[in-house]
Amino acid sequence: MQTRFTAKQLSDPDVAHCEKILRSCVHCGFCTATCPTYVLLGDELDGPRGRINLIKDMLENDRPATDEVVTHVDRCLSCLSCMTTCPSGVNYMHLVDHARAHIERTYRRTFEDRMMRALIAFVLPRRRLFALSLAPARLMRPFLPVLRRIPGLDRLAAMLALVPRRRGGSRPSMRAGTTLAGEGFPAGRVIVMQGCVQPALNPDIMRATVDMLVRHGHEVVIARGEGCCGALAHHLGRKEEALRAARRMIDTWLGEVKRAGVDAVIVTASGCGTTIKDYAHMLREDPEYAGKAERVRALAKDVHEFLEERGFGPTARETGLRVAYHAACSMQHGQKIRKAPRALLEVAGFEVVDVPEGHICCGSAGSYNILQPEIAGALKERKIANIERVKPDLIATGNIGCMTQIASATSIPVVHTVELLNWASGGEMPPVLRRGLASLEQGAEKSTAQVRESAAAAG
Ligand code: SF4
Ligand code: SF4
Repeated sequence: MQTRFTAKQLSDPDVAHCEKILRSCVHCGFCTATCPTYVLLGDELDGPRGRINLIKDMLENDRPATDEVVTHVDRCLSCLSCMTTCPSGVNYMHLVDHARAHIERTYRRTFEDRMMRALIAFVLPRRRLFALSLAPARLMRPFLPVLRRIPGLDRLAAMLALVPRRRGGSRPSMRAGTTLAGEGFPAGRVIVMQGCVQPALNPDIMRATVDMLVRHGHEVVIARGEGCCGALAHHLGRKEEALRAARRMIDTWLGEVKRAGVDAVIVTASGCGTTIKDYAHMLREDPEYAGKAERVRALAKDVHEFLEERGFGPTARETGLRVAYHAACSMQHGQKIRKAPRALLEVAGFEVVDVPEGHICCGSAGSYNILQPEIAGALKERKIANIERVKPDLIATGNIGCMTQIASATSIPVVHTVELLNWASGGEMPPVLRRGLASLEQGAEKSTAQVRESAAAAG
């Protein structure tokens, strides 16, 4: 694609980077067919090619964002399905990230929109505050039908609808500053990242990850001083907040590296992993942090990626359960981790079934399901229908956002993949599965006896 930026515009490294991306797009439109919002809405401007044109026009003309640009960029999930499809290697992620920051700088949103975004940016990244907010949010759930009818409160209702009905997890969160010695032959030393939202919604994911790594011989560190990785702020276009969060994580992790050495930083939420692996790009113009960010990028591993590299096993149990693996967009499109989760589940003895339209987002997408509840709701229904079509005993995925989104609309148990791997390799059965066995017993496809047998054999 031809561009017409001036030399002055190109002296801005962000604009220069965007120009390179724009020039790599050949306008073929292959990406539109796999874009969830184009598939749903059928508007060229709600597909990647249309958005690229809008962003190009805005940047070339050095214009503040218009209502039209904001409408269509806001509707983008940042699912990055378009990047998987694109034959020309267009880095849509960096382009839309820059567009969001430009919008944030140049566009005045409505009062309601500003309040909602400020609320998300303030509460969700603060682990304790978010955990505290869950109890009153649960109390408000019965008023959801009323809230949905009040103009301007639909997003608040969407946020409350995502709050799980019961407190997540069977065990408390792990304490920062904890170090657990590996069992058996020493395999290395790793940090397991806690994150912000995940420990409050489901501390069992962290426990399962740590238990499994310890059993596999790894010394595990829960680093003190971590916060949010910055992904939430980044996707809201709040560049400086995102960079502050990134620097804090980098300082925390490299402090631990300096203290006793670390082989990897293990990430269990693929949404966070995609951003952490992009730190080197985000901080490339920061002379103090560019090199450090590159070191962290090299250390960051999704837990599936790490297990695939280091080896997983031995498998202690054959469960025989039928698992629908939902590939989070940030896993399959953002980090290009496609085979490992499925392969690990198969090694662990599960029957893994593909979900039709597996490349299409479930509608979670960070805070998208709060900010764009209608599109997110339509995508969720589509995802659930596709999952239920393959009649699984349970659903596994590697991202807390997808888990929350999917679990809010189905009675099929939803677990993090790592909870299944931990269970199959000698750890505890995922609590949600234990509870879900009762509903499985009522299922027609698998007899109660079979399920009980599988669970009993698995412990
Ligand atoms: S990131 Fe997803 S929603 Fe956005 S343009 Fe690409 S495919 Fe469409
Ligand atoms: S597939 Fe790639 S090159 Fe083709 S229009 Fe989409 S982004 Fe541009």
